[in-house]
Amino acid sequence: MSKGQLVVISGPSGCGKDTIISKVLEKMKNEAFLSISMTTRAMRPGDTDGVDYYFVDVKQFEKNIADDKMLEYAKYGANYYGTPLEPVEKMLEDGKTVILNIEVQGGANIRRLIPEAVEIFVLPPSLEVLEKRLRSRGTDSEESILTRLEIAKNEIKVASEYDYIVVNDELEKAVEDIMSIIRANQLCTNKMKNLICEVICNA
Ligand code: 5GP
Repeated sequence: MSKGQLVVISGPSGCGKDTIISKVLEKMKNEAFLSISMTTRAMRPGDTDGVDYYFVDVKQFEKNIADDKMLEYAKYGANYYGTPLEPVEKMLEDGKTVILNIEVQGGANIRRLIPEAVEIFVLPPSLEVLEKRLRSRGTDSEESILTRLEIAKNEIKVASEYDYIVVNDELEKAVEDIMSIIRANQLCTNKMKNLICEVICNA
């Protein structure tokens, strides 16, 4: 079996990528899986430890970095966020599609470490729409909303480094676009080399 594919999805906080990703996971059940990140940020209402994130303190996070247990990590605002290495390695070995929902520093690190990963940036239709979405969530303080908007502007500046841009204007369309990218990447020549060889050898 060919190895799985790693899919990075980035986009500013509030651009709707969490909703898009959960819809993609629903539609690609048994095929695509989300890497559960580790973070030092405080839990929000509705967050579940081990489902949304592994919530740890700074000491534990820094120990994991020192022990080489993170595939990538970054500081976003005042908090650490990172991808635990082992579960991702295991899923890729099993031929699964693994989705990383990570911010742009993490995206850049993955591009450097794993060039064959496919990277998708989810763009909001405008900054006004983004601000409205952040406020309507009702989960962040005014300070946190302003920080997230400031970070968003810087994130959008590096969107062109991604392989694909998906505009989240209409949710269902954005979900279909991301699934099309994942499907096309599964058929990418590089990944099909074993198959080509098998067909030729059996001729
Ligand atoms: P939030 O606090 O809204 O859950 O996440 C803030 C940002 O951190 C989002 O852009 C999210 O994609 C990003 N993020 C979540 N997990 C990771 C991770 O493992 N690594 C990196 N680099 N960013 C992450």
